[in-house]
Amino acid sequence: MTARAIRCGTLFDGTGAAPVRNAVVTVDHGRITAVGSTMPPGVEALDLGDRFVMPGLIDCHSHASIVPGQGDQLGQLCRGPVPQALAATRNLRHDLARGTTTMRIMGEEHFVDVDLRDGIEAGVITGPRLLIAGRGLAANNGHGRALASYDGVDDVRRGARENLRRGANHVKIFVTGGVSSPGTTPTASAYTREEIRAAVEEADRVGTYAAAHAHGGPGLRLAVQEGVGTIEHGALADDEDIALMIERRVWLITTFAIFMHPDGIEGGDGQRPAIMDKMRWARRVVAENFPRHLASGVRFACGTDAVHGAMPFEMQTLVRLGVTPQHALLAATRWGAEACRIVKDVGTLEVGKRADLIAIDGDPLKDMAAMERVSLVMKDGVTHDGSGREPR
Ligand SMILES: [Zn+2]
Repeated sequence: MTARAIRCGTLFDGTGAAPVRNAVVTVDHGRITAVGSTMPPGVEALDLGDRFVMPGLIDCHSHASIVPGQGDQLGQLCRGPVPQALAATRNLRHDLARGTTTMRIMGEEHFVDVDLRDGIEAGVITGPRLLIAGRGLAANNGHGRALASYDGVDDVRRGARENLRRGANHVKIFVTGGVSSPGTTPTASAYTREEIRAAVEEADRVGTYAAAHAHGGPGLRLAVQEGVGTIEHGALADDEDIALMIERRVWLITTFAIFMHPDGIEGGDGQRPAIMDKMRWARRVVAENFPRHLASGVRFACGTDAVHGAMPFEMQTLVRLGVTPQHALLAATRWGAEACRIVKDVGTLEVGKRADLIAIDGDPLKDMAAMERVSLVMKDGVTHDGSGREPR
């Protein structure tokens, strides 16, 4: 891998600095070695002088193997490992081509996410860098239960420990009910305080954190009180919940595409009234509550929840719900890196960080729809153009 100097029409570096015209980013051995304004001599040039260049996108909440638009997400998770791996290979290639260079996986069966992460790292398949959870911890009668459930403090500990032994980066626990499972209530807690505490303790003790699927109600409050690092979805969080999240520095991870994109839940389960009633309700609630969450100043980042390739949609939705374009770009980059605790490595274009960047035809700060036109993706200094050709 040779050094390359990238001429950027406009550079948005994710640090909070104003965009810079005609900047030059130099990369070598997968890392950024310089950010300046002149092309260094003797270095291969990559001319993106007509494009908007920004850090690669960080999808903070996804699932590799499932496609919500095909319906019955839990049924998809119950397939064998080979169909899961094949589907994930296709899904992750698409995510990368659309600009996602890092993705946090929030629960898979058969530990396929371990093999996917390692396969991508080894160059066997193409996809975003993965942070993985292994199996999501779900109660027997809870949302997110696929092949296994974990009930009682000891069982939750065992599940967390097995995930961590196999190499999970974080622990995922499904605390409240969900939208895509017919029998669960998004505000009811499936877990007791003690069970949630066990998951948090096991994660904390090995230097990582627990992430809680929680829409709202007592389950969300318990998860925040017991010290999870991120609240996933969180659309029903009330003012007191949000105040506590701010106090405890808990991140809110928004996932709008799964509810709002036509290829989300609606695409697959649009004919199931028990799910669609909850969906319509969730859409209304998100539109009502998110502007209030935004005004509170709670820290947030975003994810697609397995609507593969939909980070541009997620960012456009943020803007539609009142986020400034600059903050939408930060939510999809640096803030995501902070929420996932990897900001030392990715999330901004600064010397020493991984050479993860994307080039866009157009200016998303003027029109967020430009995010639909990602024309080059670089991950670890290797470029991918979305054509399926070999990377270089
Ligand atoms: Zn999810």
